[in-house]
Amino acid sequence: MTRPTAAMLVIGDEILSGRTLDTNTRTLAEALTARGIDLREVRVVPDEHDAIGAALNALRKSHDHVFTSGGIGPTHDDITADAVAAAFGVPIDVRADARALLEAHYTRSGQVLNAARLRMARIPEGAVLIENPVSSAPGFRLGNVSVMAGVPAVFQAMLASVLPTLAGGAPLLSATLRLERGEGEVAGPLAEVAMRHPALSFASYPFVAEGRFGTNLVIRGSDPDALARAEAELRAAVLP
Ligand code: AMP
Ligand code: MG
Repeated sequence: MTRPTAAMLVIGDEILSGRTLDTNTRTLAEALTARGIDLREVRVVPDEHDAIGAALNALRKSHDHVFTSGGIGPTHDDITADAVAAAFGVPIDVRADARALLEAHYTRSGQVLNAARLRMARIPEGAVLIENPVSSAPGFRLGNVSVMAGVPAVFQAMLASVLPTLAGGAPLLSATLRLERGEGEVAGPLAEVAMRHPALSFASYPFVAEGRFGTNLVIRGSDPDALARAEAELRAAVLP
């Protein structure tokens, strides 16, 4: 069973300057792996209209699904919705249902829906709203692109409402062997076992802990029996 593919477009100057650590990619990667969707590419672009549009148009053509994070708040630098509309060549305006969500939210919390906040009701024509149970301002889905917030808690909540609507494949399973040996010592047997199991992927991730080299050997695949057989074989090949 083949798995659908996905790409992530991380939008934000704060990621590129190092001010903010991008945790949304990891959140997405873990959720997609569990859902059986292969995340194949991640791009990070600044809060610039043309950069967002160019990256989005490249990614949406080459992957089944695209997920974006960032730039859908109330300030002047939140331009993702406009850039997405331009990339798709559709108009964008304040939409009544999105506005109603914001009105209800700000009325509940005793605040006013001012012009800045109303920006968050600007939705490209033809999009479907993505629910935001945390702060109400919706994300949206247009074609194969899901546009979501940058704030990690909101990104997670939006992702949770989007993922069940997407068809997944067989979840990607993994087995890990943690070795207190450098990878140069186990590269030979690892390659031999990998060659005997072409349907699985084998990877080696070295680390340093307490001044000593170690290696995590990771096997990935969607068939649990094949994974267990390969793990046993690898264990016998690399452990003394
Ligand atoms: P934005 O929606 O771009 O205005 O981002 C709102 C907040 O979310 C920013 O203050 C960032 O700190 C945070 N944020 C944006 N993108 C990410 C990301 N990829 N990972 C983690 N936090 C992020
Ligand atoms: Mg931003």
